[in-house]
Amino acid sequence: MQDFSAILIKIDADRASLLEKRRIDVGDIRKVIAYAQAAGKAFVNKVTGRYLAYCRPSITTYWVEYNLKGNEYEILCAYSHRMEILEGFNIPPKSPERSDDWWCVKCNVPLERATVKLTYLDETFGVDLPSCPSCQRVFVSEENALQKMALAEKMLEDK
Ligand SMILES: [Zn+2]
Repeated sequence: MQDFSAILIKIDADRASLLEKRRIDVGDIRKVIAYAQAAGKAFVNKVTGRYLAYCRPSITTYWVEYNLKGNEYEILCAYSHRMEILEGFNIPPKSPERSDDWWCVKCNVPLERATVKLTYLDETFGVDLPSCPSCQRVFVSEENALQKMALAEKMLEDK
């Protein structure tokens, strides 16, 4: 196992208890940040300066929103979903809809809405979500993960 303990994490008590309820521990958060550091893959909000990164170390995809102050990661939010993002199958819309706020750090371009492919329990479907028009990395907001995706996961699990 790689040692991620060198990553400086700051998280306040309220957020820590929320993440505990969501069953996300500091180890999961460190994995996302280590991945974002190593791969240089994250989104940045050009208005707030906040970062959002994700990785899928196992069957769960973890997302972490953070502020980077020096070498300290202040954790603002984290969420997860089980649905898997199939990268590299994005279909751009006929009329591009661009995000002003969120940009891809690696490609340094604003995100645009695309029809992206998601898969869960042998079902694959297309959903319109913001993504990087260059590397095709998909952006899943907290609201989408906790509401729409969670609902779809539940429906597929109950089938
Ligand atoms: Zn990109």
